[in-house]
Amino acid sequence: MDSIIRQLKKSDHILIATHTHPDGDAIGSLIALGLSLKALNKNITLYNESPIPAVYRFLPEVHLVVNKIGKTNYDTAVILDCGDLNRIGEAVSIVSRIPVIVNIDHHVTNTHFGHFQLIDTSACATSEIVYRLIKQMAVPLNKAIATAIYTGVLADTGSFRFSNTNRAAFAICQEMVELGVHPHDISQHVYGTYSLGRIKLLNRALDSIEISANGKLSIMILTKDMFVETHTQPEDVDGLINYAKRIEDVRVAALIQEHYNGTEQPRNSNKFHVSLRSDGSVDVAAIASLFGGGGHSSAAGFNIESTLSDIKIKIFSLADKI
Ligand code: 5GP
Ligand code: MN
Repeated sequence: MDSIIRQLKKSDHILIATHTHPDGDAIGSLIALGLSLKALNKNITLYNESPIPAVYRFLPEVHLVVNKIGKTNYDTAVILDCGDLNRIGEAVSIVSRIPVIVNIDHHVTNTHFGHFQLIDTSACATSEIVYRLIKQMAVPLNKAIATAIYTGVLADTGSFRFSNTNRAAFAICQEMVELGVHPHDISQHVYGTYSLGRIKLLNRALDSIEISANGKLSIMILTKDMFVETHTQPEDVDGLINYAKRIEDVRVAALIQEHYNGTEQPRNSNKFHVSLRSDGSVDVAAIASLFGGGGHSSAAGFNIESTLSDIKIKIFSLADKI
């Protein structure tokens, strides 16, 4: 950590980036570190390729996050919450030319890319690691930074329910509450406000669920047509897979989601994202790695180009081994 702090302190312009289709941890850690480096008088650019999901637009200074970057003279890039560098999306070609890349993450499948790594797979969220980094840099925490960190921990632990929930999750969140964060306000933003379209999408998603013959694996499907018909975006998918995971006896839930960039496209692109969740008895990061993806042992994912029916067959064939 000390060598990373030295690198950050001697940098003038720092790019901070997180993964496409960001979750609360990706955006929370991005804003928390961005505001902290700004407090140290650094020039910062916060980057995420995808739109900020509506539920996270309440975060302080969220307008600082840009979705395009040029070939500016950055000294250092900090990549947060990405198991591999490609997770940041198109900007990988620009970022890989930045002289120093710092990789801060908590995924077990992290490829150790970059010149410096701060990887802790026992951390509940990248926001936990960023919290420690901010403390070590002696940046005073304020309510804005605290809100971002709290949101990151809350989102990645599924409100302190998932298996990554650790002692630090509670200790950090307690400290953030002491700094003025209101848990109810944040959960209202993150969980309390569903658009009507999202409820309709949930209906479609629930209706699509199928179970393997042995009952141990469930599949949920979301197609481009469903997004178009319910006027929803990929960000509205967040959390839906948990319904498929909750089903009695199910060990692994898979959500097969057709790629959709928010505008109607020609049909049959054959590009899908598969999200995997397990009840803790199956290592889904290992399964995702087989398909070129990654993640955590109980939450992982991968991209695949194939037909929906082929993907379903491939996933159902996993059921006998779990
Ligand atoms: P989800 O599938 O719900 O988007 O993501 C679940 C977890 O797996 C997240 O921690 C996410 O970062 C990781 N993940 C999802 N897709 C990929 C992928 O294609 N590659 C890697 N390395 N990790 C992924
Ligand atoms: Mn995370």
